[in-house]
Amino acid sequence: MKPVIYITRKIPDDILQPYQDSFDFRMWDKEETPVPRDVLLSEAASADGVLCLLTEAIDKEFLAAAKHLKIVANMAVGYDNIDVEAAREHGVVVTNTPDVLTETTADLAFALLMATARRIVEANDYIRDDKWEYWSPYLLAGSDIHGKKIGIVGMGRIGEAVARRAKGFDMSILYHNRSRKVKAEQELGAVYCEFTELMKEADFVVSLIPLTEETKEMFNEQAFQNMKSSAVFINVSRGATVDEQALHDALTANTIRAAGLDVFNQEPISAEHPLMKLDNVVCLPHIGSASVATRTKMLELCLDNLKEVLNGAQAMTPVN
Ligand code: NAP
Repeated sequence: MKPVIYITRKIPDDILQPYQDSFDFRMWDKEETPVPRDVLLSEAASADGVLCLLTEAIDKEFLAAAKHLKIVANMAVGYDNIDVEAAREHGVVVTNTPDVLTETTADLAFALLMATARRIVEANDYIRDDKWEYWSPYLLAGSDIHGKKIGIVGMGRIGEAVARRAKGFDMSILYHNRSRKVKAEQELGAVYCEFTELMKEADFVVSLIPLTEETKEMFNEQAFQNMKSSAVFINVSRGATVDEQALHDALTANTIRAAGLDVFNQEPISAEHPLMKLDNVVCLPHIGSASVATRTKMLELCLDNLKEVLNGAQAMTPVN
C-alpha cells in the first residue's frame, strides 16, 4: 500500500503528477474554503503525511488524532499555527517553506511601503470616486521614500531582502534582530539598534519578525508612541505581533502617519474592520508570497519534504 498524504486545500493536479506513483493523495476539494475541523481530524487519522496551510491549527488534539502521521509540511515559512513541541513529542517532523518565498515577499513588503508612503490606493480611489477636478500643490501629497531611514524588525531572510531593496532607494538601514547580521552590516551598511531606538529613529518601520511568545504584541501602545509622528508602520509578518487597538489609536491620534498591513490578528478581516475605515491605512489580504511562480515552488517544496520523510530520508527544511 502506498503512503497516504492528506492535502488540506484543493491544489492543481499537475503539481501532484510527478508524485502520483509514490503516494495515495487525498485532498479537501475546495480551493478557497479551509477544511472543516472534523473532516481534518478524521482524514488525519489515516494519513502518513499532511500538507497544510496556515489556516489549520496543528495542535495537541490534531496530533492525538493522527496516529500514523510522520510529517506535517506547512505551506508557509512561518509556523505559528503548529504546536512544534507537541509534534516533536509525537515523533512528527514539521517542515516549512523558507527561501523560495523570500524575494517575492520582500517585493510585496516594499510595494506596500511605497503604496502607503505615496497614498497610491487613496489616489486610485480618488479617481474612481470621481473627485479629481484640478491639479493642486498638495493634492494627495505623501512621504518621500528615497533618502529616508528604514527600520527593519526581524532581519532574517526576508528582512535582508527588503534591506537590499531599500539600499537601491538610497535609504539608510537600521535593524533590530536577536543576533547581529554582520554580512548585512558590511554589505548594506545596516546599523544594529535596540528595539526602542529603532522605533524612535526610523521613518519606516517594517516588521518581518516571526510570531512567538516573545514577539506577541511587541508593537504595542508604547512602541507606537516611540515612533515619529511622520513615520509609517508596515507589517508583513503576522498580525498578532501587533496590538491592533493600539495601532488604531496611534493612527487616529496622528501619533504615526500611516500603516500598511498584509496581516491581521484574526484573518480574514472584513470591510467593517476598524482599520479598514481609516484613509491612512493600506490593507492587503495576506498576499506576501502570492506570485504564481512562488506559490508553485512552495507547494513543490512541501511535496519534496513529504517524499523525503516518507521514504525514510531527512526532511529538506525541517523546523523541529
Ligand atoms: P527568518 O529568516 O527566520 O527571519 C526571522 C528573523 O527574526 C531572524 O533573523 C530572527 O533572528 C529574528 N527574530 C526572531 N525572534 C526574534 C526576537 N524575539 N527578537 C528579535 N529578533 C527575532 O524568517 P523569514 O523567512 O525572513 O520570515 C520572517 C517572517 O515573515 C515569518 O516568520 C512569517 O511570519 C512572515 N512571512 C509573512 C509572509 C506574508 O505573506 N505576509 C510571507 C512570508 C513570511 P535570529 O536569526 O537571531 O534567530
